[in-house]
Amino acid sequence: MKLNPRVHAARRAAAIQPFAVMDVLARAQQLEAAGRRVVHMEIGEPDFTATPQVVAAAVRALRDGRSTYTATLGLPALREAIAAHYGSRFAVEITPERIAITSGASGGLLLALALYVNPGDEMLVPDPGYPGYRHMVRAFEGVARALKVSPETGFQPTLAMVRAAWGRRTRGLLLGAPSNPTGTAIARTELEKIACFVAARGGVLVVDEIYQGLTYADQGAENPGAAAPVTALGLPGEVVVVNSFSKYFCMTGWRLGWLALPRTRNNARMRELEKLAQHLFICAPSVAQHAALACFLPSSLEILEQRRLEFQRRRDFLVPALERAGLAVPAPPSGAFYVYARCPGDGRRFAFELLEREGVAATPGIDFGAHRTRRYVRFAYTRSMEDLEEAAARLARCCLGLTRGARLHRRRAP
Ligand code: PMP
Repeated sequence: MKLNPRVHAARRAAAIQPFAVMDVLARAQQLEAAGRRVVHMEIGEPDFTATPQVVAAAVRALRDGRSTYTATLGLPALREAIAAHYGSRFAVEITPERIAITSGASGGLLLALALYVNPGDEMLVPDPGYPGYRHMVRAFEGVARALKVSPETGFQPTLAMVRAAWGRRTRGLLLGAPSNPTGTAIARTELEKIACFVAARGGVLVVDEIYQGLTYADQGAENPGAAAPVTALGLPGEVVVVNSFSKYFCMTGWRLGWLALPRTRNNARMRELEKLAQHLFICAPSVAQHAALACFLPSSLEILEQRRLEFQRRRDFLVPALERAGLAVPAPPSGAFYVYARCPGDGRRFAFELLEREGVAATPGIDFGAHRTRRYVRFAYTRSMEDLEEAAARLARCCLGLTRGARLHRRRAP
């Protein structure tokens, strides 16, 4: 059928920028169809799946027909399990009533923004940062204002930046800890100061903790344990914490996450959120909720902890390998599973050269904002050590080829 030229998508749709990485992925798939082997480092999801305990619980739930709608805010048992997890792992007390189960962190972020953002309200978001933040703010008719973050502050906002950017229309700040694409974490003390400032201004602080649990010891540290687990939960003011089963729990496609709201009288904020969730989502996927209860079994957590150590080993291998190849990593990652590296030239061009010459796929930095992102690419170490070793060798060859090519070009130039 011919499209009616008088019908247009809403302006909010036109304002969304497509991902540059989709072009990389499309080309990678063409190469693969032609028989080339591509090492995929562009994808931001674990190469591990849900633990066997979770899979078994999902099968049981399906067999028992527990696949109907649940309460809008989620299974009470799961909300309790998450509250208990905050107590045991982070020594933070929270009642299950303040926790809502959502469709991934995406669902949690959408609900948080629906709850707080009025048309024209400004939300501060880090640049570079997860692109969903600014697009979701826009979808609710808010204005995402970039906080330009650089390696000097570990690609994280500081109190000084937040203070300088805060204006009459600013409603709050939304940040990821650890961050995608940089894998860097904000210092607890800085986050505390920011929370106090935001509270004093009557604003809201939304912290996306989707990579929580995936934090690593300093590179070369003798003790391979995790950096002390942190959460923004419990900080003063209107602090909303968003989390997910996608990354640490390796359940991206299960579409499950959660959101924790600040303590309010009679849990009034949660009642407001519940109304929104009822009409926007009804509830999060029920089979996934029943299955996720098994995430918190000690045997499940043990497996996840082993995987965390595996991610740490990969990071410890990849960062120096990139540097040896000629890419700089100006702010070493301490979490998530990404390395944000500076390329010799334009990042998008580099990503395509790397793919064409050597069959390694990475995400151009421009997908994560506008602040000096042109020079960067993001590598996800969601591949086996073997694949990473292969990718590192290919990368080194590619960089060598590019420098030789540039030298030749300079010599031939008049
Ligand atoms: N926040 C960040 C920082 C992410 O990287 C992602 C996914 N890559 C999300 C939120 C959304 O994840 P999900 O909806 O799967 O929980």
